[in-house]
Amino acid sequence: MTRYAAPGTEGALMSYASRYGHFIGGEYVDPVRGGWFENRSPVTGQVFTEGARGTAEDVERALDAAHAAAPAWGRTSAAERSAVLLRIADRTEQHLEALAVAETWENGKPVRETLAADLPLAVDHFRYFAGVLRAQEGSISQLDDDTVAYHFHEPLGVVAQIIPWNFPLLMAAWKLAPALAAGNTVVLKPAEQTPASVHHWLGLVADLLPPGVVNVVNGFGEEAGKPLASSPRVAKIAFTGETSTGRLIMGYAAENLKPVSLELGGKSPNLFFDDIWAVDDDLRDKALEGFAMFALNQGEVCTSPSRALIERGRYGDFLDAAVARTELIAPGHPLDTETMIGAQASEEQLRKILGYLEIGRKEGAKVLTGGERQELDGELAGGYYVQPTVFEGDNRMRIFQEEIFGPVVSVTSFRDFDDAVRIANDTAYGLGAGVWTRDVNTAYRAGRAIQAGRIWQNAYHAYPAHAAFGGVKQSGIGRETHKMMLDHYQWTKNVLVSY
Ligand code: NAD
Repeated sequence: MTRYAAPGTEGALMSYASRYGHFIGGEYVDPVRGGWFENRSPVTGQVFTEGARGTAEDVERALDAAHAAAPAWGRTSAAERSAVLLRIADRTEQHLEALAVAETWENGKPVRETLAADLPLAVDHFRYFAGVLRAQEGSISQLDDDTVAYHFHEPLGVVAQIIPWNFPLLMAAWKLAPALAAGNTVVLKPAEQTPASVHHWLGLVADLLPPGVVNVVNGFGEEAGKPLASSPRVAKIAFTGETSTGRLIMGYAAENLKPVSLELGGKSPNLFFDDIWAVDDDLRDKALEGFAMFALNQGEVCTSPSRALIERGRYGDFLDAAVARTELIAPGHPLDTETMIGAQASEEQLRKILGYLEIGRKEGAKVLTGGERQELDGELAGGYYVQPTVFEGDNRMRIFQEEIFGPVVSVTSFRDFDDAVRIANDTAYGLGAGVWTRDVNTAYRAGRAIQAGRIWQNAYHAYPAHAAFGGVKQSGIGRETHKMMLDHYQWTKNVLVSY
């Protein structure tokens, strides 16, 4: 096992700046009047840097810069923009280890994940959109002998992007790559819990972009996010965060009649059918790994499989094995390369999860393992750790219906296929789902019947750039990955010519 040195200590790969201002027009600037706020590492609970506290004035400055840069960037050729995205990907990859450590320190997630998943996925996202951009074509239709119609793709202009704290850099990459590929300029607001990761990365890649093409305003939702999302000067608002915030964003957008895309919360079901118990088949072990995915990223994943639905025939056997598998996941030092689960991202999030552990008990759910804050020693004593927790209960309980966003799974049984689908869909959300079965017919029917934007079969938690990702119902509007995103960041112009 290796432990990376904490940022700024002896042997560390990186240090943070003591403060992160806003990044506007290609340079770091101090806040106009908002001052600074403290940024704590969830690993230790200690303050390690400060972020600028953005207000409407900072947002206006950023919009000025984005508007100034928009015409020239929008006129660059696809080949030029593609080359910029590829350079960003290469530069990010060159600094991948340091960026992974930085993200771990700010968010609390284990470095094995930032190294193996978050950062490589961010790099790939830039490469993917660099590629699909080159393959995009307009169209010409001959309508009759002397009439033709041309369709052009036009960038939207200046887009607002607001992201959460659970994947600080990956969420930024998911939003920036398609928007930039499509020829837009951007004002991005990171979450107030993680203001540094995006800036730290920008410090490494900013020279690859013309000034004003990407602008970042830090700060809180009401103070910085609202003026950005409410501005008539943005052509689109792309938001990822809680469903309740998504409703507000849609209201702001309605005032100015702007398009929105919303990537919101989830309460994703993971369905385990009896037939995974075949002799000499490793699918059952794979399914147990799939069950344990509820603790990935400390459960702070929008698609977290936070409801496990297990078929009645082998319910007891599967649950015993699933609890035993869960007990192998112990919270540990996020900078150790073997740690499977790290710290929750903020004290507020820790309190929210502990509150739900209490709610579950009061509702009469049974705690099969975990159920408490995880106390750790030394420098981790002040950090925000929670034991992976398995509840057994009923799908109408709050712990089955509300997004906890922690390492907590709520388990219940189902009778047959129809019962499984009924319980799976008995939620306000529709983001992710898992289906574990050897039967291709069951898999196909479940794939059709479950209301979710992403359904994994005999797998969970994979996010390739070319697979469309997004939610239905209260989980959102629009998609986030896949080449279709170019259309979401462009408008179509038709020119009809008669000779
Ligand atoms: P949040 O809604 O509290 O905050 C998200 C962002 O919105 C932050 O930058 C915040 O400052 C900003 N914000 C808050 N209030 C605002 C307002 N009134 N106007 C404008 N901006 C405002 O969400 P969070 O707690 O940071 O993130 C966790 C949530 O994000 C979870 O619900 C999770 O499921 C969701 N999420 C969804 C996806 C997805 O792709 N569907 C991905 C990651 C996270």
